[in-house]
Amino acid sequence: MNAKICLICGKEFTPKRSDASYCSEKCRAKANYKKRVAAKEKTESYENIEPFTMVPEIQSPPLKGELSMDSMLGFIEKSENEIKRLTDEINELKSQNNMLANDIFTLKEQVKTTGEINIKKIELVLELTDSQIFNNYLNTEYLTAKKMDKANPEKLLKTDWEITGYSGESFRQRINNYRMRLKNEILKLEGQADNIQNQIRKTETLIVSNKETIQENIQQVRFYQSRILRYEGLLVGK
Ligand SMILES: [Zn+2]
Repeated sequence: MNAKICLICGKEFTPKRSDASYCSEKCRAKANYKKRVAAKEKTESYENIEPFTMVPEIQSPPLKGELSMDSMLGFIEKSENEIKRLTDEINELKSQNNMLANDIFTLKEQVKTTGEINIKKIELVLELTDSQIFNNYLNTEYLTAKKMDKANPEKLLKTDWEITGYSGESFRQRINNYRMRLKNEILKLEGQADNIQNQIRKTETLIVSNKETIQENIQQVRFYQSRILRYEGLLVGK
């Protein structure tokens, strides 16, 4: 590979990779430091950065003293890997939350269909009079004649008198059974709607807990970023 000029110290060097711009780890660290300081100043001047909360399980390694350049470079590399891992996890959780939000949308539509539309339809049938229920749903003679376009099917309709009178006992029995079935159907649909509501609540809880993890990860990323900055600062100062 052709020799290059290091963008930091100006020395000529033979790069190991074609995209290398610096002669050494130290110069690469100096360059990164410059970029990060610039980026940090830019961010700080624009936004109100939230107060930094120390994440308890992360111990900051000692700053001064016996640390060799190698161990500082090691800390920087480890921190960069951690940032990568945390950022991947943040992105994964964000896309998971998008999917969960879609699920909630679908589930809410289902609650609407089950609870508000289907139950309402049955309730409207239950409000009908006995003879209306019989003629509309149980009078097979009349319903078949109507379906087959026979002449004057309405002469097969049962009157209120035929159903409520003394001889209407068997009609009333069938109508009561039919009402019972409709009421059971409502109970079943209400149970389904309850299950869907529970699913919605569970999904919402999962979204909140993902958001909390995302916030924790963001705090950790900030921690590692400031740690990298400190070590690069020390490297440059050496
Ligand atoms: Zn250099």
